[in-house]
Amino acid sequence: MKHKTIEIFLFIDALGWKIVNDHHFMMDFLPYRKKINMQFGYSSSAIPTILSGKTPAEHGHLGLFRFAPETSPFKFLSRWAWLFKPAGFWSRGRVRHHLSRLLKKLYGFTGYFQLYRMPIWKLKFVDYCEKRDLFIANGMENIPNLWDTLKSQGVDFHISDWHLSDSENYFAAAKAIENGKNFLFVYTAGFDGVLHDKAGDADAVQRKLDEIQNQISHLYEKAMEHAEEVHFTVFSDHGMTPLAGTVDIMGKMAESGLVFGKDYGACYDSTMARFHYLSEHAKSVITEIMQEFPGHFLSREEEIQYGIYREDRMFGDGIFLLDPGIQIVPSDMGSAPLNGMHGFAPANEHSFAALLSNTAVPEEVKHVADYFKLMIERAETL
Ligand SMILES: [Zn+2]
Repeated sequence: MKHKTIEIFLFIDALGWKIVNDHHFMMDFLPYRKKINMQFGYSSSAIPTILSGKTPAEHGHLGLFRFAPETSPFKFLSRWAWLFKPAGFWSRGRVRHHLSRLLKKLYGFTGYFQLYRMPIWKLKFVDYCEKRDLFIANGMENIPNLWDTLKSQGVDFHISDWHLSDSENYFAAAKAIENGKNFLFVYTAGFDGVLHDKAGDADAVQRKLDEIQNQISHLYEKAMEHAEEVHFTVFSDHGMTPLAGTVDIMGKMAESGLVFGKDYGACYDSTMARFHYLSEHAKSVITEIMQEFPGHFLSREEEIQYGIYREDRMFGDGIFLLDPGIQIVPSDMGSAPLNGMHGFAPANEHSFAALLSNTAVPEEVKHVADYFKLMIERAETL
C-alpha cells in the first residue's frame, strides 16, 4: 500500500543561507527557500530548540558546560586530580576522548558528552547540560520533545539516532520508509565538520554538497516508491563564519589576580566567554579587562531577543560575545583555531540558517525555533 504523503525533514548542521546561495544548492529540487534566523549559541542549543520549539532560556541548554559548583556532578574527580597531573598526557586528544567515554559511562549520561579541552581541575566547578539523549522518549525532562509529541499524535515516525554516521542515518531512513514510516526526521552533522575544517575552500564545500545532493536524491526516490507525494524539507541550525582572528582571554584572566572559583567563574566557549561574578570587585576587574577585546557584553535586550535571558543567570552574569570571525583560543572547547566557527551574532551574514523545501512553507517560519511547529503541523495532516 502506498501512503498519500511522506514527510521528510532533513537536518543538515551548518548548512547556512550564505553557503546555500553561494553554491546554488538544489535550486530546482527545493524551490521554496527561506533565510532563517539562527538560534543563538551552538548546535548544543539549537538541537534542543529544534526538538522542542523552546528557547535556551526555557530548555536550559546554551553552552555544553556551565559554571555551577553546587550542582557539579564531577566533584569527586577533584580528589583524583593528582592523577591527572602530567598535564601533557591528559591534554592529548585521544586520551581526553577515552576519558570522556569513561565519564559518560560512569555517570550514565545518554546524551552527547565530550570534555573537549575542559581542564580536569575545572570540572568540579561545572555542570553539563546534555546528560540525556534529547532525541528519544522523555529526552528533555519536563518538556515534550519531538519524539513525545509525535508519539502522542499517533504518528508512525522515524527519528535518526544521532550516534550514527551520516551515511548510516540515510540508510536507516531509507529502511524506515521500507518499513512503512511516513514521517522522518533525519539528522546529519557531517557538513558542519567539513566547514569547520574547510570553510573558504569552495571546491571542498562543493564536493560535500554534491555528496549530500546524491543522498537526498536517493532518499527521495525511495520515498516516492512508497507514497503518492513526498514533502522534502531541508533545514539547518546556523551557518559558518570564516576565521578572522583569535584572542587569548584565558591568558589575560590568569594574569588578573582573580581566583577562579573564589572571585569568579567562567566558561570559555569558542566565540563567547560567560562570566559569573562572585564579588563586585571581580565584576569591575573583568569588565575592565574585557574592554580590550573585540566584542561586547550582551545587553539584557539582546539576551531576551536571542532567547537566552534567565533571571537566575544560569548561563552567566555577563556574556561576552566576540565580533564575527574572532575565536577564543585557547578555550574550553579547543586549543587551536578552526577555519570556520559558528556562534557569533545572529545578524552576521554568515550566521543565518536555511530552510529549503519542495513544498510551500508558511510565512511565519522565520527562526530555528519555528521548525518544531512546522514539523508537528505537517505530521497532523498525515
Ligand atoms: Zn559546529
